[in-house]
Amino acid sequence: MTLQERDKKHLWHPLTQHKIHPDALPIVKAKGALLYDEYDKTYIDGIASWYTAMYGHCNDYILEKVQEQMQQLDQIVFAGFTHQPAIKLSEELIKILPANQEKIFFSDNGSTANEVGIKMALQYHFNKGEKRNTIIAFKDGFHGDTFGAMSASGLSVYNGPFEDFFINVKRISTPNFENIDSVIKQLQTYIETNEVAAFIYEPLVQGANAMHMYEARYLNQILSICKENNVITIADEVMTGFGKTGKVFASDFVETKPDIISMSKALTAGFVPMAITSCTQEIYNAFLDDSIGKAFFHAHTYSANPIACSVALAAIELLQTEEFQNHISRIIRAHENFDEQIKNHPKVRATRQKGVIYALELNIEMDRYGKKRYEIFDHFMQNGVCLRPLGNTVYVLPPYVITNEQLNYIHDVILTLLDKI
Ligand SMILES: *Cc1c(COP(=O)(O)O)cnc(C)c1O
Repeated sequence: MTLQERDKKHLWHPLTQHKIHPDALPIVKAKGALLYDEYDKTYIDGIASWYTAMYGHCNDYILEKVQEQMQQLDQIVFAGFTHQPAIKLSEELIKILPANQEKIFFSDNGSTANEVGIKMALQYHFNKGEKRNTIIAFKDGFHGDTFGAMSASGLSVYNGPFEDFFINVKRISTPNFENIDSVIKQLQTYIETNEVAAFIYEPLVQGANAMHMYEARYLNQILSICKENNVITIADEVMTGFGKTGKVFASDFVETKPDIISMSKALTAGFVPMAITSCTQEIYNAFLDDSIGKAFFHAHTYSANPIACSVALAAIELLQTEEFQNHISRIIRAHENFDEQIKNHPKVRATRQKGVIYALELNIEMDRYGKKRYEIFDHFMQNGVCLRPLGNTVYVLPPYVITNEQLNYIHDVILTLLDKI
């Protein structure tokens, strides 16, 4: 039996209606920007396996560091114990995070990083004797699939079975030149008429919302109003973090800094799952008390796993090298050149770019998970390119190590799609 046949027996895949899409493609090997299937066909990973493998799959430097760590210390409970990789990682992260961030809290994935951020914000007010019970979020944001994160995600069209159990969330539109005044007014009304604890947002680029982009100055207006009203701001940098926007964090483009930042995905370079929620000293201080009950009682068994920490340390080291900074500038320029070439194509409705993230909206109507979407996906895969369209938006978010040839090839395959549809 092939892997594909064996897969069907016991496996249940995420985001998959198995009755309509029974087949999953087995990948047996990955290196750099390439994925290899069981018949040795290669695919260029144009989305860095959901924005994780930014330093290239099975990166040799990271591999070396993980192997060293694996022989030294594999796992230790992080409640009451500590270790060198977590300590070093906290030191290195604080150096590159926005200057107001002081404390690092560990979990396992992007959803839990946001879950932790939301719980920190709620308990921050609770510990100060204020009962604030409402979260503000963007209408089309995405923050993950656990209950808190899912409640804050406005995109989720398939959330029917769970909606009765959501936490309290009020939504504002993503700001733009036309609506900014009404967005601000709506925000102020919510703050006046509700007990608002926090505002959670994806800074500048909303990944799952088809890479929708919005301007730093509008976000800054929203954040300043939150600050004035002691509404805790939570930047979900799970997608945007670690260089993708052209700066280390998208929040680096915004004058007002968030109180809390969640990170995952590229944090551990596609090697192992891990997530971090960072916060200011002010947030942390609200949990310091003679009473145990004011502590943050949240833990995951694998919190700050030493192996995962060693991966993150190696990745952060790579990100800061001249070599990787050059990769980032090179990809930015290549996307810009491609954009010049296609932005006026009749099949292209709009294009957008932030750093190495490039997206183009096709001039056709289609459902997010409809038949057309799968046809476009098949076009890419048949041509040896792994791109996963989000509705009618095709986006490229390649590993930093992608070669010019590979990137040009992706751009060419997009061009042939435009001529075909
Ligand atoms: C992927 C993502 C999440 C969820 O992370 P998981 O690790 O999949 O739980 C949350 N927020 C954003 C912005 C993401 O891109």
